Amino acid sequence: MPRTEPIKAVRGVRDILPEERALWRVAERAAARVAHRFGYREIQTPVIEHLELIERVGEDTDAVSKELYRFEDRGGRQLALRPEATAGVVRAYFEGGLNQGPQPARLYLIGPMFRYDRPQKGRYRQFFQFNVEAIGGASPAVDVEVIELARAWLIEVGLDKLTLELNTIGDDQCRPAYLDLLRAYYRPLRDKLHKECQRRLEINPLRLLDCKVPQCQPFKSGAPKMTEHLCEPCASAWAVVRKLLDAAGIEYNLNPYLVRGLDYYTRTVFEFYPSGASGQQDALASGGRYDGLAAAESWPSTPGVGFAGGLDRVTELMASEGEEVVPEPAADVIVLPDGDLVAEAAEIARLIRVVRSASVDYEPRSLRAKMRAADKVDALWAVLFNADEAKRRVAQLRDMRSGEQREVMWSDLPELLA
Ligand code: AMP
Repeated sequence: MPRTEPIKAVRGVRDILPEERALWRVAERAAARVAHRFGYREIQTPVIEHLELIERVGEDTDAVSKELYRFEDRGGRQLALRPEATAGVVRAYFEGGLNQGPQPARLYLIGPMFRYDRPQKGRYRQFFQFNVEAIGGASPAVDVEVIELARAWLIEVGLDKLTLELNTIGDDQCRPAYLDLLRAYYRPLRDKLHKECQRRLEINPLRLLDCKVPQCQPFKSGAPKMTEHLCEPCASAWAVVRKLLDAAGIEYNLNPYLVRGLDYYTRTVFEFYPSGASGQQDALASGGRYDGLAAAESWPSTPGVGFAGGLDRVTELMASEGEEVVPEPAADVIVLPDGDLVAEAAEIARLIRVVRSASVDYEPRSLRAKMRAADKVDALWAVLFNADEAKRRVAQLRDMRSGEQREVMWSDLPELLA
């Protein structure tokens, strides 16, 4: 037999072990609870989509151009692992007939996303998002609704020191003329920009505004601002968003450099950061309006707005803020047969499981060793019995906290433990 190394997890992905899952569950349950409180219903879409769907909505984003997991399946189909959820949720909205129901369709999804990013702390190749989408609603009040929902979720998990960054990027009426102004401003500075920004200058100048490379920073403050070049409908939507945020008592920073580099994004963009975080740090949640997305997928033009929150980031921050989660015991009751009494132990566990979680120690070891193991798993009760007791269908019920122990009938266990 050749000796081989054990096979480890794939680079850039990780296991979330039971101890950590306790904290994750707090974040996920809060997400579902808050989403329901706002009238959003859960949806799940596949992690695989047609490559074309993902590419069409994501060209020139890093997530698609450099980081996409793409492959051919056994039937020769070109597929991708989703790098984000919105494209698939919008597809499902039309394919599932949600466009025929009440509008907007208010949807949320919690699930894994995949990006072939450079692995580092807080950046994984499989990561999890809490995704919220309101599709089929054009009112700027819905923009504020999803902002409020994102904020309520973060506060609910204890992350209440938040900074909200806000901007508008106009729409297909006012943005083209603004992009011309932006190009005209940057063209004389072209040689001073880093290489990628030089390339973007003509094809996607909005991305110059969120460039993080130091050599490009000095020129931003002089650049024309979208907010000063909005068409009338965009300007009035922008005014409503700010008015409603003020009415809700939600503070925000106007950030003219917060943009999305894709044409189908319109108007509101926002990001939540932990207060005091540097600009280089990941957002906890980011979102915005995407009125052009449905049409980019060749569906009828339909407005939408939403956000994605990063569960990996949020749970890491919860842990570092000292969020205490008492892990649940693996089982409330542990059944400890003294000797080879497998069938009897299974029968007792079956009786108990009607009212409580129960597990059995089937290992061939002494009762002493079993007791020591039981102490470690934080069970509330132990049920001990030997062959003689099994014949009489009785067992010792031990309260693991007080150490008190008494003989009971098996048939009385459900009532005693309920
Ligand atoms: P984005 O879809 O890039 O706007 O990101 C939305 C959320 O997902 C942010 O809160 C990020 O923290 C999180 N996120 C994005 N990429 C990753 C990654 N590679 N690993 C972990 N979290 C991520």
